[in-house]
Formats: sequence, C-alpha cells, structure tokens
Amino acid sequence: MIDQAYLDSIIKEYKRYTIEGQVADYIPELKKMNRGDLGISVYDGEKVFSSGNWDKKFTIQSVSKPLVLMLALIDQGEDKIFELVGKEPTGDPFNSMIRLETYTFKKPLNPMINAGAITISSLIKGKDNEEKINRILGFIRLLADNEDIHVNKDVFLSEKETGNRNRSLGYFLKDIRCIEGSVEEVLDLYFMQCSIEVNTLDLAKMSLIIANDGFNKQTGEQLIPKKYAKIAKTFMLTCGMYDESGQFAIDVGIPSKSGVGGGIMSSAPNQYGIGVYGPALNLKGNSVAGMRMLERISKDFDMSIFL
Ligand code: GLU
Repeated sequence: MIDQAYLDSIIKEYKRYTIEGQVADYIPELKKMNRGDLGISVYDGEKVFSSGNWDKKFTIQSVSKPLVLMLALIDQGEDKIFELVGKEPTGDPFNSMIRLETYTFKKPLNPMINAGAITISSLIKGKDNEEKINRILGFIRLLADNEDIHVNKDVFLSEKETGNRNRSLGYFLKDIRCIEGSVEEVLDLYFMQCSIEVNTLDLAKMSLIIANDGFNKQTGEQLIPKKYAKIAKTFMLTCGMYDESGQFAIDVGIPSKSGVGGGIMSSAPNQYGIGVYGPALNLKGNSVAGMRMLERISKDFDMSIFL
C-alpha cells in the first residue's frame, strides 16, 4: 500500500535528480520556476497522500490537452473531432510543423501535439473566449473537485507575447482549413488553457476520474462519457510524454500526460490518480525526477498496464 512514509522517502530519494534538468525558459515567465522543486499526490478515491512541493501551484501547460480534448468530444462528438485531427503518434517534437505539410491528409497527427491541441481548442463551444475559458475552467474544477483553479495571467501574457511558433502553426492550420474564425482568438484560448494553475492534488484527482473511465466513485456520477475518457487515456499512453512516450510506456506503463510547467498527470486504470510536479525538464520536455519517481512507483506497486 502507498502511504505517507513511502511517498516522503521517494521524494527525498528522487529530489537529487532535479539537478539533471532545466526549467523551461522559452516562455519567459516560466524561468521563475524553482528547478529543485519536486512534489507528488496519490489518490485512490478514499485516501490521498501528498509529499514534497505538492501544494505549490504551477501552470498546467500541455497537461490541459487531454482535458480539453474530452470537453471538445463532449461538445462536437467523435466524428467531427477526428475529421480534423488524427490519432497517430508523430515521433516529432510537440511544436513541430513538418508533418503538416507532408502528411497526405493535411491535418495534425494527434490531439497531444500543439497543432492538434490548437485545433481542438478551436472546437470548444462558447460565444466568445471568456465563455470558452470559463467552460474549460468549469470542467477542470469539476474533475479536480476544486473551485479555486484560475488562469495565471502573467504566464498567459508571456506566452501570448513570445509564442511565435504556435502563432505560425495557427495560421498554417487556418490555411489548411483545420480551424475557422480568428486565429489570434483561437491562440489566446489555447494560451489561456495552458496557463491554468493547479497543484499535484488537482492533477491526482483529475487523473483518477480518467483512470476510472470518467466515473466519480465517490459521488456515483459519470462526469465524462466512458468512451471519451478511454480515448483520452489512450492518447496519454501513446503520445502523452512527447517523443519519449514509447520508452515511458515500457518503463512505467501508466497512461500519463506531461507539460513544460513540470506537471505529469498519471492515470493507473481502476487504481490510482497520480499528480507529479518537478519543473526540471529533460531535453524532451519531461520532468526528469518526476519520470524516475513514477517508474519506481510503478515497479513497487505493479501499476504498469502491461503487467
Ligand atoms: N503552452 C506550451 C506551448 O504550447 C505548452 C507546451 C507543453 O507543455 O508541451 O508551447
């Protein structure tokens, strides 16, 4: 059984790996993160254990991608979503555009890379961006069971100002008719969803809902249609850890999504929701200490879905 003493010892042991990574600096505001931070929360629906810098807020960044995907699936249905975005891993970095031009179907390869996620953001319903971001926040607050979740405006503005690569992806997507309407508005919504602040407990609670196929065992409510939670979980396994997803599936085997804010949301099917925060990233953009910690926990408690 996972307990407080176990998590405390894991944090103590793995904190030293934070020196192997660097905080993301391509969004200037993210440079302010503390490289040595490491935190974790593990939730089984009844008991929750947290350790290290678990209560520090950080921006969700790409961890928002499977969450917003599920809301878009609820809004638009599967056919519409996958008419515009594919289902295949890319083998390219998260912000790559190379395949957009060369891939025969001229659509982003999956919803976990930026091109796919920007397209997915454009499919969220609402009369304007205020209504859309409030719907995304409402969905995240519901899954995390926490009303105190907001957008970090400084991180949002920092990325809006410097996100030229995402801006070029946006205009390219408009050109190939994956997105409609104002590109700048779609990008604003995407930058806002990435700037939502959470802690590891929020991630653990959300990932347990995904681990349980959208069902909240505590309240008996189906918060996300089962099929959509399964789609998100599958993308987390196949494309959730950037172009290290294959290695991670072998070493850890838990459907997970990471973000450049240092977060990892891991859903051990029917078992645990795990939230990790460790902003020192490796060259692929994944939390160095966070990944190692998950590998250890997966092995200690036989959490790999392949076992
Ligand atoms: N907002 C970031 C970007 O689009 C998210 C990147 C990430 O976490 O992978 O560049």
